[in-house]
Amino acid sequence: MVKIGVLGLQGAVREHVNAIEKCGANAVVVKHKEQLNELDGLILPGGESTTMRKLIDKYDFLDELKNFGKQGKPMFGTCAGLILLAKSIVGYDQPHIGVLDVKVERNSFGRQKESFETDLDIAGVADHFPAVFIRAPHIVEAGENVEVLAKHNGRIVAAREGQFLGCSFHPELTDDSRLTEYFVDMVKKSKENA
Ligand code: GLN
Repeated sequence: MVKIGVLGLQGAVREHVNAIEKCGANAVVVKHKEQLNELDGLILPGGESTTMRKLIDKYDFLDELKNFGKQGKPMFGTCAGLILLAKSIVGYDQPHIGVLDVKVERNSFGRQKESFETDLDIAGVADHFPAVFIRAPHIVEAGENVEVLAKHNGRIVAAREGQFLGCSFHPELTDDSRLTEYFVDMVKKSKENA
C-alpha cells in the first residue's frame, strides 16, 4: 500500500487525509521534515500560500520539499499548494518550491466570485467534476511539457507535468474522490517503477 503525506502546517489538511484513505492508501499528516523520507507521494493543501511559506521557512522545510521532487516522487498541489509548486508567480521575484513548470496568478477569479462551485471536465480524470474554488489562483502560462487537464472560462485550472499535478480548486471538499484517486494512481505507478 502506498503512503501519501499531506503537508500539515496550515490549511485544508484533514479533508485530504480522509480523501486519500477513501482511495485505499495510507495517509500521514506531515509536520516534521523528517517524515518526508517515509512517503511515496505528497499533497500540498489549500490555505494561504504566504502563511504556508512562512511556516515552511520556520520549520526549515523548503530544501527537503525541493529534494522530494528531485527524487521523482509525485507531488499534488491544490489551490495554495499549486502556488507552492509553481516555478513562477505573477508579481513575485522568486517561486516557493518551484518544480512545476507553470506561471500562476493568485486570487484571480475576482471579488464577487471569491468562492464558487462549477462543473469541470478534467482530461483523462473525470467528466462533470464538482470543483470548489476559494480565492483561487489560475495558471497563466504552462511550459511545453505540461499537460493542460482542465480550463474554466478559458483559464487553465488543472495541469500535470510528469510526477507533478496541480489544480486551482479544492478536490478534497466534496465527496467526489476521482482526482485524488488519479493522484493515488500516479503514486502507485511511480513506486512500482522506482
Ligand atoms: N488565495 C490563496 C493564496 O493565494 C489560495 C486560496 C486557497 O488555497 N483556497 O495562497
